[in-house]
Amino acid sequence: MHELSIAEGIIDVVTRTANANALSKIKSVRVAIGQLAGVEIEALRFAWVSARRDSVAEEAELVIERPQGKAWCMDCEKTVPLPRYGEACPFCGGYHLTATGGTELKVLDIVGED
Ligand SMILES: [Zn+2]
Repeated sequence: MHELSIAEGIIDVVTRTANANALSKIKSVRVAIGQLAGVEIEALRFAWVSARRDSVAEEAELVIERPQGKAWCMDCEKTVPLPRYGEACPFCGGYHLTATGGTELKVLDIVGED
């Protein structure tokens, strides 16, 4: 499952950060997962619960932010909202779109205690 490897990747980052900052327990982890990142949020939440087990983030809450998908429309020559791949430009109805935003998948910050 794709989302499990993503959850494990987040745990890796969190574990390294906790070690580097001498944190014994992580309370929350905030991540940005763009609308176009291709991640199923429900599946990720489910995977998180098993990935965090026996880690420093065992009780950590996963806070998910969802940056909006954006694309450059070649016909309109401007940036337009694109909530998911395969949708048409909301202005001209065309499909000459290149994703320019909302594709990120990253850890924003981590809250822990010593
Ligand atoms: Zn357009």
